[in-house]
Amino acid sequence: MQHINNQDLTHLNTFHIEVKAKDFYIVENESELPRLFHELKKHNAKPLILGGGSNILFTDNPQIPIIQFITKRIKILEKYPDYDLVQAEAGIKWDDLVRWSVENNYYGLVNLSYIPGTVGAAPVQNIGAYGQEAGNFIHSVKIYNIEQQRFQTLSQEQCSFGYRSSIFKTSLKGKAIITSVIFRLPKQKHFDLSYKDLRILQDSPLLSLWLLRLTIGKIRMSKLPDPSIIGNAGSFFKNPIIPTDQLSALQQRFPQIPHYQMPRQKVKIPAGWLIDQLGLKGYRHGNAGVYENNALVLVNHGNATGEEILELAKIIQDKVKEKFDILLEPEVNII
Ligand SMILES: Cc1cc2nc3c(=O)[nH]c(=O)nc-3n(C[C@H](O)[C@H](O)[C@H](O)COP(=O)(O)OP(=O)(O)OC[C@H]3O[C@@H](n4cnc5c(N)ncnc54)[C@H](O)[C@@H]3O)c2cc1C
Repeated sequence: MQHINNQDLTHLNTFHIEVKAKDFYIVENESELPRLFHELKKHNAKPLILGGGSNILFTDNPQIPIIQFITKRIKILEKYPDYDLVQAEAGIKWDDLVRWSVENNYYGLVNLSYIPGTVGAAPVQNIGAYGQEAGNFIHSVKIYNIEQQRFQTLSQEQCSFGYRSSIFKTSLKGKAIITSVIFRLPKQKHFDLSYKDLRILQDSPLLSLWLLRLTIGKIRMSKLPDPSIIGNAGSFFKNPIIPTDQLSALQQRFPQIPHYQMPRQKVKIPAGWLIDQLGLKGYRHGNAGVYENNALVLVNHGNATGEEILELAKIIQDKVKEKFDILLEPEVNII
């Protein structure tokens, strides 16, 4: 384990907000956690786990300790006729795991190709894209429980995965460190092409895991700005889920409003569409802005502060609330 004072986080968060962490710890092995937490407890310090910093907005220099994992192992734990159980450590880049799964002919994770970040963060907001969510393939999650100071394994059910949510965003928020994730990876050939942009592949004689991955990569590149060029954290807001009654009322005023059916008489509305209706694509607030090709993405045009991006988010929330009576919830973790 390494302890660094005043670690610059500018290149450790994809918004590229210039902040410094007073205490930064690099953990190479989960066995180091009990000793680290014993130390932190003496100072009553509650730490933040930083993965790839691709879903975080720092609004100031964090005064709390920051912990980052550099654990990297992928291990096949058990083999079954239809699937294998595969354990991946928290510090692995998410897309390295997806590429490994494709190389080894596992079906499932491929739709989640090219999502930035780490394996350890994937269960936190149950990352999702192109009709799939990580939680669908998670068998269990190994955590270090900070309050109880012990390792625990949570089953898929105990993780309470939902749309961009899990137990790690609710009752275990700030209380659990994910050290590794065990995936149940299918071996039977099956492609999920339910997402509209992927339907073009349905009749392709060349359909393969690699072709699907390549296609998803191309679509993502056309819709999302590359954080190495322009700072951003992907979708800033969650797509709101509202009751069907509220949709009917909105349809009177906005007949074109797009929506997707959800269980229990609810519908999901694309937040990007709501923001776009306000004419905010390309809008700027100081050095912060709404991405010109995708209204759901807030960007750092250079030297934006976290506060500036947060102010922009609030402007958008107020305008959406005023026009549609819908409160947009941030997907990004504001620190
Ligand atoms: C260009 C771009 C595109 C994106 N596309 C998508 C997408 O398609 N779908 C999607 O769902 N998301 C997307 N995201 C968001 C982001 O990639 C995911 O949320 C990702 O899981 C964040 O991983 P991270 O390692 O960077 O986490 P961080 O941003 O470092 O952390 C996110 C949260 O998880 C917590 N955390 C991180 N690691 C651990 C751990 N080991 N134990 C406990 N808590 C932890 C942090 O404390 C924080 O609260 C995108 C982001 C960008 C920049």
